Amino acid sequence: MIFLFGAPNLLWSAGRIKVVTTIQPLAFFVEQIGGPYVQVEAMIPPGANPHTYESTPGQMVKLSQAQMYVEIGTAFAFEKNWVPKLASLNKNMRIVNASDGISLIPMTEHHHDNDHHEQGEVDPHTWVSVGNAMMMARTIEKNLCELDPGHESVYQANAVNLLKQLGDLDKEIQQILAPLQQRAFYTYHPSWGYFAAEYHLDQVVIENQGKEPTARELQHVIEEAKAKGIKTIFVSPEFNSKSALVIAKEIGGQVVSIEHLNKDFLNNLRDAAKAIAGQ
Ligand SMILES: [Zn+2]
Repeated sequence: MIFLFGAPNLLWSAGRIKVVTTIQPLAFFVEQIGGPYVQVEAMIPPGANPHTYESTPGQMVKLSQAQMYVEIGTAFAFEKNWVPKLASLNKNMRIVNASDGISLIPMTEHHHDNDHHEQGEVDPHTWVSVGNAMMMARTIEKNLCELDPGHESVYQANAVNLLKQLGDLDKEIQQILAPLQQRAFYTYHPSWGYFAAEYHLDQVVIENQGKEPTARELQHVIEEAKAKGIKTIFVSPEFNSKSALVIAKEIGGQVVSIEHLNKDFLNNLRDAAKAIAGQ
């Protein structure tokens, strides 16, 4: 069930900066930096697919009163369709692109897909990276300070604290991954490209442009996984991923459910590193 913008929660409480974000991890960053002076809601409820999500009319009520909207800013269909509408609905709302200043990388090519490469397509999952999260934290800090200069020192101190936690997490993940010889991991949905680039891992994608792979493609993946000795496959609950289970069974491996949209951002990336390292 979706409660986020449902009837019990239609109104903002008074006296705090009202911020809406597209996804839960961005709401986490805003909460960490804004502390008690902000109120944050994410548009996409837990478990929904951000590639296909459409906002509800009820969400418009809250958006019409929000002071800031934080978008991922990497051309997700949802944002492409809605952010311009939101901007015209609420002209006083500051639109913040969380991916400002982040170097975009191309989508991981489908591992066995020789005839339709997704060449030139940008990987939109920028938040799945410790380094990018640091950039996002700074962008959010800067915008909150501009919007509410009275609490500037609080936002700055909170941002320093979040950056410290992200820095510690980065060191921890490097330690977790350091002993790895085999640096490939399988994932149903290609949401770990920035994380893979950051830690010199090889993300192998099972899904084929949003669809389950064909039987022939599946067979290829299984053979490759056996040859490489890969035992871990990431799935996330937003996507139907029966093929991941089939592969896991065939290779005697395990399916690990990792939500790249989880609000518990720090623990989630740590868990991903551990899963890749087989811990
Ligand atoms: Zn995605």
